[in-house]
Amino acid sequence: MAFPPAFLDELIARNPIEDVVGQYVQLKRSGANYFGLCPFHSEKTGSFSVAPNKQIYYCFGCHKGGGVINFIMDIENLSYPDAVRFLAKRAGLEVPEDDRYQSRYREQERLWKLCKDAARFFHQQLKSDAGKPGRAYLAGRGMDWQTVTKFGIGFAVDDWHTLENAMRKQGYTREELIAADLVGEREKDGRRYSYDRFTNRVMFPLIDVRGNVVGFAGRTLDANYQGRKYLNSKDTLIFNKRNFVFGMNLAKKSKQGRIILCEGPMDAIACHQFGFDCAVASQGTSLTQEQINIIGKYTDQVVMTFDSDFAGQNATQRAITMFEKAGISVRILRFEGAKDADEFLHKYGADRFSVLLEGSADQADYRLQSLKSQYDLSKDDQKVEFLKKAAVLISGFPNAIEREIYGAKAAEAAGITPDAMKLEISRAYKNRRRREQKKEEEKNLSPVTALQPAARGLRYDNIRSARAEEVVLRQVLRDASQFELLKDLPPEAFSAPVLGKAYAALRERYRAGHDVSLAVLQDFTPEELAHLTGVARANDEPVSEQALRDCAAAILEEHQKSQQGQGEDALRATLERMKNKKGYGG
Ligand SMILES: [Zn+2]
Repeated sequence: MAFPPAFLDELIARNPIEDVVGQYVQLKRSGANYFGLCPFHSEKTGSFSVAPNKQIYYCFGCHKGGGVINFIMDIENLSYPDAVRFLAKRAGLEVPEDDRYQSRYREQERLWKLCKDAARFFHQQLKSDAGKPGRAYLAGRGMDWQTVTKFGIGFAVDDWHTLENAMRKQGYTREELIAADLVGEREKDGRRYSYDRFTNRVMFPLIDVRGNVVGFAGRTLDANYQGRKYLNSKDTLIFNKRNFVFGMNLAKKSKQGRIILCEGPMDAIACHQFGFDCAVASQGTSLTQEQINIIGKYTDQVVMTFDSDFAGQNATQRAITMFEKAGISVRILRFEGAKDADEFLHKYGADRFSVLLEGSADQADYRLQSLKSQYDLSKDDQKVEFLKKAAVLISGFPNAIEREIYGAKAAEAAGITPDAMKLEISRAYKNRRRREQKKEEEKNLSPVTALQPAARGLRYDNIRSARAEEVVLRQVLRDASQFELLKDLPPEAFSAPVLGKAYAALRERYRAGHDVSLAVLQDFTPEELAHLTGVARANDEPVSEQALRDCAAAILEEHQKSQQGQGEDALRATLERMKNKKGYGG
């Protein structure tokens, strides 16, 4: 049977692959991934890996791989539906085998749509005349319009019925609005009155990891308002504040290799505006285990930027312990001269923030010191050796300001001018870049055979196209919004059937607003899935939008060539037939 996509999404979310596999295989964490001994072939080295952020496993030895459902099919020897039932039971989920459950998922989908439409409406309001106070507030906080759009920020006017009226015009019922916690109800003199929950507030849509709008946080603009400044949606069928992390839908695509955890949405948004696209926010200071699990799926490095007041410190201590238990390293960022990330960024800018973030204050100093201790700097030959090594070390610091600061420090230690050191570092930096480029070129020249799938049935006919197809698949699996760039690339243009089939299935899920992940694919053989998993795992470097467009162009070009080829073949075949006919007739 086909299970509803939303159910499968939840099944997979509630059965983290590292947990499920961890019950069968002893896993060790290394970076973002886990490694262990493969349960499917006998081995002494750990070729078996699990990537929690992609929700897949892969064995470099026997090339088995796939999502959590495939793993259970393989290891428990179950059919697809039975593996789904097995995992549902494990997570305490009921399998939607009857109408009641089907209807629950339909209701969920309806609420997602309602919240998305409400977010659109609030955003329109912000842009309209009525949104002037909201725009003034955001401008006062130094937020640019690009950021406003990126986060879909909106405005709820100071009126009790504007949202309800607008949404009912779009066909939603009052019951649905209440179920989404957009409208409240109260009784007076035996009559029931409804009212918009959010009024006179700047509206931040709460978007879950899959990209669904599930609720709102509204910041009041009423200076005399007695309650809390932020009003958050209550828990609903689609929103549970215990397992919600603000900004995770964006931060999960970040290439910065860590997560910056802020206290409130405004701090996280400021980080994004200044280029730190790995920032998220918990709603309030006490972090839940569920939130830690979500963050742990995408990183093993967290930088916390919580307030330094006393209450904040207690919460911070508790959070550190919880992160460490989950195998995630934590650092605390302290802001001197500003109360939070938002203020710090606007006051001092991105570069200063970056230096703080790199933890250079302790880490880089420490590395430079320990290098220095290995040399006797009173001797000229040792001094030269130290400077060379220091230049190599410093050239590896990602931030130009850091390279400058530590270059000066090393120069001072060795008694040379900062300019001489600068020259040495820039030479080391260039060497490093050259080596990296060479590596990249070598990869591009790797023999064609290395690109062929392990399973014979999946051999590629057109290597140039298949290579581009693999890049396209990898990119959309990393960031499904890239489908927007690929509007002109139909699955039919793919030369490798298995890649085309995966592309088509993922694109359909993207269009329907579901999770785009290999873990949720149905109707693929184990060999196909294993191959796709290998494709997704290989070469983790993201490519630029231009490179992606180039790949799409290459696929289309090869496709056109093959069509022409076929056209010629068909023509030749027709000619042959005609000749034969002639011969036959004559
Ligand atoms: Zn294996």
